[in-house]
Amino acid sequence: MAFSDARKSRGLYRAQVLRGERVTPHMVRVTFDGDELRRLPRHGFDQWFRLFLPRADGTTDFDAVPEGFGMAGYLKYLMANSHTRPLFRNYTVRMHRPEAGELDVDFVAHGDEGVAGPWAQRARAGERVVLLDQGRGFEVQDGTHLLVGDESALPAVLGILRDLPRDATGLALIEIPDPTDAQPVDAPEGFEVRWLPRADPHARPGALALETLRRYAPIDPAALSVYLAGEQALVAAGRRHLVAVGVPKQRIVFTGYWRIGRAG
Ligand SMILES: Cc1cc2nc3c(=O)[nH]c(=O)nc-3n(C[C@H](O)[C@H](O)[C@H](O)COP(=O)(O)OP(=O)(O)OC[C@H]3O[C@@H](n4cnc5c(N)ncnc54)[C@H](O)[C@@H]3O)c2cc1C
Repeated sequence: MAFSDARKSRGLYRAQVLRGERVTPHMVRVTFDGDELRRLPRHGFDQWFRLFLPRADGTTDFDAVPEGFGMAGYLKYLMANSHTRPLFRNYTVRMHRPEAGELDVDFVAHGDEGVAGPWAQRARAGERVVLLDQGRGFEVQDGTHLLVGDESALPAVLGILRDLPRDATGLALIEIPDPTDAQPVDAPEGFEVRWLPRADPHARPGALALETLRRYAPIDPAALSVYLAGEQALVAAGRRHLVAVGVPKQRIVFTGYWRIGRAG
């Protein structure tokens, strides 16, 4: 499958909510539709975007959304009226159907705190949003793959598994709140996908994935290609561990997706 060049990705895409459904106990899938989604570039893998959301009181000024999020764009956003500019969070393309102008996004339902997670749980058909395309983080490298994430990175890890060459090999570790949060996986045959349900509902998200990662001893660390995403502590400590066991820094793609106790 051909993908667009993620480095050239920019641009705004207007859409509206088509429907929302709870796909597993802790994941809500919102499907957006709109003509502009027909021309959203397909970067594949962990393609992500900034999602600008409507305000509950209906006063959202979507004109405050910049064309890009460089210094100038961010300043434009900050200078817009803080009572009417849309709030935004970062999300991953779960599934894009350009021919239908549809896009699925999986939101972790993490409770009542915050903006995007709570919004997704009550999203109504017809609500408007704006997406700012950000390309993707993952690049295919040679060697064996190790993909590690918590539930917020589930869409990214499953997207990477879906889009990797079919002869790719490796291991994916995906921490989830509950065994029933696992989703169907389309992975290359030579991949082991290990779901890691948290036994304790009060356990710190990411801790189990980190513990499992620390027990993983790569046979040839110099040939390992790593993708690491999720709660900040998992990502920071996971990367430190991998570097300590000999994985070259340039072979580790890592992103802190969120931080316990911090908004945005
Ligand atoms: C590139 C990228 C792609 C991402 N893709 C996705 C995706 O596809 N799906 C997805 O669900 N998330 C994804 N995330 C993570 C998402 O942006 C954050 O979780 C974000 O903080 C959620 O916003 P919110 O408004 O719900 O909560 P916030 O207002 O940001 O935070 C409110 C509170 O909720 C807590 N919180 C935030 N996220 C979580 C969580 N996942 N679990 C438990 N507590 C949480 C915070 O610590 C804070 O205490 C992605 C992040 C990045 C950087």
